[in-house]
Amino acid sequence: MSAKVRLYVDHPLGAGQSVPLDRDQAHYLFGVMRLGPGARVALFNGRDGEWQAEVAEAGKRGGVLACVAQSKPLQLPPDLWLIFAPIKKARTDFIVEKAAEMGAARIVPVVTEFTNSERIRQDRLQAHAVEAAEQCGGTFVPEVAELQKLSALLDHWPLSRQLMFCDEAEVGQRLFLDEVRAEPPAPWAILIGPEGGFSEGERKRLQGMEQSHVVSLGPRILRADTAAVAAMTLWQQRLGDWR
Ligand code: SAM
Repeated sequence: MSAKVRLYVDHPLGAGQSVPLDRDQAHYLFGVMRLGPGARVALFNGRDGEWQAEVAEAGKRGGVLACVAQSKPLQLPPDLWLIFAPIKKARTDFIVEKAAEMGAARIVPVVTEFTNSERIRQDRLQAHAVEAAEQCGGTFVPEVAELQKLSALLDHWPLSRQLMFCDEAEVGQRLFLDEVRAEPPAPWAILIGPEGGFSEGERKRLQGMEQSHVVSLGPRILRADTAAVAAMTLWQQRLGDWR
């Protein structure tokens, strides 16, 4: 019998391994989902793949699951960062959720010159990434980094990481990653700007980086959340694990 519920746990998983539950997890499994002893739950921790587990103890404030057998190996996404400037709360949540579903390895919120929102709750965004992985069947959860300045990120940019710079100034141009060889897989990042777009200074700096590939996302200006999904789709199809 396969599990109907998938749960992320920050605990090692393996044959015969017991997994203690905290209060929130117990409330969800036994209070909300009404599972009892013997019920099956699929577990993953981002490191050990997915495991089928059985409810061994069910209580109001806690419980214990026992791992039975591995049901999926760990599947790591390509080494892709999604870098974006936070926008309104619900749209920022959407970007994090979609990035986790679509296969980003790391999600990096940045402050740019025209960023609308200079504060985020990193813990809340990380929880969104966990929920997205739970519901999409993934065995990996991307890290959501703390908010940082784009300029500081670029100061320490890794030499080998290519950058797909989505620039609204290129709207309508036919620029994509055609010149990029698909093999071997290299570390990459996608950069999406805020509602106000990039400043001329930022654009100049980004265009001048040798790792930068300036990209147009078609003949219309997309909202940042749409642009993030469109860019990830293009990248995954051309260079990632959708091929
Ligand atoms: N306020 C800007 C303007 O009117 O030119 C638009 C910014 S857009 C809402 C937010 C971000 O999405 C941009 O900074 C860019 O990264 C990306 N984007 C949106 N449409 C794009 C397009 N057609 N080509 C490339 N990037 C695009």
